[in-house]
Amino acid sequence: MAAEGAKAMRVVIVGGGTAGWMTAAALARLVPAAQAEIVLVESDEIGIVGVGEATLPHIRAFNTRIGIDEADFMRATGATFKLGIEFRDWARIGDSYIHPFGVFGRDTDGVGFHHYLARAGQIERLQDFSLPVVAARGARFAPPADDPESLLSTYGYAYQFDATRYAPYLRVRAEADGAQRIEGRVVAVDRDADGGRVTAVRLADGRAVAGDLFVDCSGFRALLIGDTLREPFEDWSRWLPCDRAVAVPCASQGPLLPYTSAVAMPAGWRWRIPLQHRVGNGYVYSSAHVDDDAARDALLAAIEGPALAEPQLLRFHAGRRPRGWVDNVVAIGLAGGFLEPLESTSIYLIQIAITALVELFPDGAIDPADRDEFNRVLGIEYDRIRDFLILHYHATERDDAPFWTRMRTMEVPDTLARKMALFRARGRVETYREGVFLEPSWIAVYLGQRIVPEGYDQRADAPDAAGLARAVERLHAVTAAAARAMPDHREYIATIGAAA
Ligand code: FAD
Repeated sequence: MAAEGAKAMRVVIVGGGTAGWMTAAALARLVPAAQAEIVLVESDEIGIVGVGEATLPHIRAFNTRIGIDEADFMRATGATFKLGIEFRDWARIGDSYIHPFGVFGRDTDGVGFHHYLARAGQIERLQDFSLPVVAARGARFAPPADDPESLLSTYGYAYQFDATRYAPYLRVRAEADGAQRIEGRVVAVDRDADGGRVTAVRLADGRAVAGDLFVDCSGFRALLIGDTLREPFEDWSRWLPCDRAVAVPCASQGPLLPYTSAVAMPAGWRWRIPLQHRVGNGYVYSSAHVDDDAARDALLAAIEGPALAEPQLLRFHAGRRPRGWVDNVVAIGLAGGFLEPLESTSIYLIQIAITALVELFPDGAIDPADRDEFNRVLGIEYDRIRDFLILHYHATERDDAPFWTRMRTMEVPDTLARKMALFRARGRVETYREGVFLEPSWIAVYLGQRIVPEGYDQRADAPDAAGLARAVERLHAVTAAAARAMPDHREYIATIGAAA
């Protein structure tokens, strides 16, 4: 609620990619007009990154909050449902596991199911006890149930969509909710006489767009947070050396899979993202280990259908700005940091930043305590995702390429070393209540990467062995049956009218 008599704060969003239009749509819908006037500046000439097709389940809450109808959104963006991410060839060539958006089995008396399976000497079967894994493998999909007793309540889902269509889709909503769009290229930035806060951005045609709060959504260019305010970039390439990607769409073949694949490659990994109308592909690689031409050729050789466009080359560095909110500039999206899309986290990070900004939105003047809180929350999320990504690379047995030897033998952050030691001993996962990637996600990746715990929670010794074996087999059968009863993924999309 705005302080009495205070005038609305003028918010200028610089950039109209996914970050810019998500921010505009959310602020226009969720912050009262009396408190904020929303302006977005974007340059048709410059364009957007246009990749970013795989998401996490949290996006559903975002879409719902801004009033998006699911079937309408899916039709507009060619979206498919996503139950998890498959990792192929990561620990050893030939391995495959899914990081599902759901739990494994049923916890009993507060003890995780994987402890019971470990006690039964069958922990390598854990994947078979995740309904989203089994459904995904069969190209099946059904929405989760609300009834907490139902096995169908044990998972969530996300989307895979055409990244070039999401921002335009949000633009229509943002403008309908009062956001104003200005087309133009920012060529200069005005600041206070003391060189502090930003007061306006200047466009190539001479116009000045003044504001009270600026949101830097200018992508890797980081016009305000980087070029203007000089907030440093904390480089994480010693742990995450992949610094380029080549991306190309191809025609779809075979069943429509409700999951994204990440296939390890000699110098990085390759994504496969099935949409309704095509498949998105990309090779994320370390330029120190493979050159651009070889990477492009390797990608073109790996895709399953004819390429539908020229391959696109993208360059980046892993890392983040320690402070995303500095003075009166908030960086959201690629301007604030970048982590490779191995776990589909960029759009999630945009969403988290927007949620924090809405919750901490200035009431007249910017309170430094709000700014600090924004930076604290984003810092936790970035650091945790960083550790999670490093785990995939580091916990490998691969020694078939210099890239993998480097990743296997590198020193990892202490925060990750501690988490890995905890799991290795007794299958325990560092717990936290908020943020992304909770216990099941870590368990999926630890085991998928062949980190097998030496022990288990002793409370799992409570049931008698025969009873436990029967319960395990029953759950296995029920999970398989529940997956079989789900409709085919493509048919389900058509049934709800979400097909284009
Ligand atoms: P951009 O899309 O680059 O938008 C920048 C905007 O700023 C544009 O509108 C541009 O016109 C404007 N602009 C720039 N300079 C100026 C100027 N001088 N004047 C005016 N306007 C200007 N994320 C996921 O969640 N899932 C994924 O699967 C995924 N895959 C990815 C794969 C790769 C290889 C890469 C590089 C990224 C991926 N991402 C993914 C990240 C995702 O693409 C981005 O987070 C998302 O697109 C947001 O980008 P953005 O809006 O910050 O920047």
